[in-house]
Order: sequence, then structure tokens, then C-alpha cells
Amino acid sequence: MAPTLLQAKQLRVAYGGIEAVKGIDFEVHEGELVSLIGSNGAGKTTTMKAITGGLPLKGGEVLYLGKPISGQGPWDLVRQGLAMVPEGRGVFTRMSITENLLMGAYTRRDKAEIAADIERVFTTFPRLRERKDQLAGTMSGGEQQMLAMGRALLSRPKVLLLDEPSMGLSPIMVDKIFEVVAQVHAQGTTIVLVEQNASRALAIADRGYVMESGLITMTGTGKDLLNDEKVRAAYLGE
Ligand code: ATP
Repeated sequence: MAPTLLQAKQLRVAYGGIEAVKGIDFEVHEGELVSLIGSNGAGKTTTMKAITGGLPLKGGEVLYLGKPISGQGPWDLVRQGLAMVPEGRGVFTRMSITENLLMGAYTRRDKAEIAADIERVFTTFPRLRERKDQLAGTMSGGEQQMLAMGRALLSRPKVLLLDEPSMGLSPIMVDKIFEVVAQVHAQGTTIVLVEQNASRALAIADRGYVMESGLITMTGTGKDLLNDEKVRAAYLGE
């Protein structure tokens, strides 16, 4: 089996006295696309934030490349190849598209390759090329989502965490985003995908985890979960 890049062991996270993540275990192997699904408030975003240093752990640990990473901030993690596109995207609204992409490459010194990677992002998202000098804050939600993904790719991540990339987007944009996620995965990037859109997320996943009320309640291949009666009833509206 491919090496484990990211692992949570009995991870617990609380807001004040309320535990939102109650001791979960999961692992992500090199080259995998792993989807984390579950309803509103299940604890998916909290899990992502705890991994990338945005929230303190109440218990357990997160290992990246075999080493504990608690206490490290998002920038340290990006430097080590662990990048996240947060829910709500977080682009720099007062910077242009191109400036945002360059910020994604701030840990790199290889100017020619950075330019080539920006070119690649523009080929994937022609819309960003058309607007490359426009301020990011003036773009639509879907365009900002593309930019946030492009910016994360500019760090050349080993592992890319995506928190609800399809949220609030039009059906055409949702198609585009899932297409790009599958494409980035096919090019070799390991991906953790948090999604409300369970059917789409499981359809492109190697493996998936179902989260309910702060716990992982099911796991399996994307295909098995997609065909599971309980999953279909609870998350696929059947
Ligand atoms: P969604 O898809 O709606 O974002 P989620 O699965 O990502 O759901 P979380 O956002 O992780 O769920 O929320 C898990 C629980 O933690 C919820 O009960 C939520 O109300 C609570 N929670 C989230 N953020 C905070 C906060 N800043 N302070 C207090 N409680 C919070």
C-alpha cells in the first residue's frame, strides 16, 4: 500500500465546553482522493481547521509525513506541502488574480516554473486568464473558488485539503469544480475533499468517511459508500 501522508489519531476538538469532534481516526495514503461527507454541523470543517492549525486539539494527534503537526500554523504547513482551500475561499480581495496566484507560490524561488504553473492554472481556468489583472474581490463566488484552488496549487502541495469547494455555486460551476478536483487528483496530488454534495464527492473518491455528530460512523471505498443503503437514505436523498 502507498505510504500514509496524513493521519488523525483519536482527534478531539472542542469549542469551549462543547466537543465538536469526539475522537476520530482516519488516514490518507499517497495518491488517494479521500472524501469526508456528513450533514451540517457534523464536524467536518472543525476537523479540517484542526489539521491545519486553525484550532487547538483537545486530544489525540495529527501526523503529517509521520510526524505530529499540532502547534504549526497554516504557513508552516504549506511550506511542507500541506495546503488547504478553506470554506468561504479566503482569497485576497484587494489583490489581482495574478497577485493572488503569486502569493500561493511565496515559498518557492523557481521563477520560471512558477510562471509555467500560473500558465497551467490559466489553461485549466480560462476565466482567470481573462480577468488576470482584476481585483479578486470583484469576482463571482465560483470564480473566487477557482482562484482559491489555483492559488493552493501554486504551492505544489503533496496533500490538498478542500473544504466544501462546491458550496453556493451554480450547477455549471459545480461541474467544473468536480472536474478540476478529479483532474488534479489524476495528475498525482493527494486530496482530502469535504463536501455536502455526497454523491459527487463519493463518485470521484478512492475512499470516503462519513461523519455524524463529531464521530466517524462509516468508511469504505467511494463506490461502496455510494451504493450503501444507509448512505443513500441519509445523504443522497433517496
Ligand atoms: P457544515 O457543513 O455546516 O460546515 P460541518 O460538518 O463542517 O458542517 P462544523 O462546522 O465543523 O460542521 O461544526 C461542528 C459543530 O461545532 C457544530 O455543532 C457547530 O455548531 C459547532 N461550531 C462550529 N464552529 C463553532 C464556533 N466557532 N464556536 C462554537 N461552536 C462551533
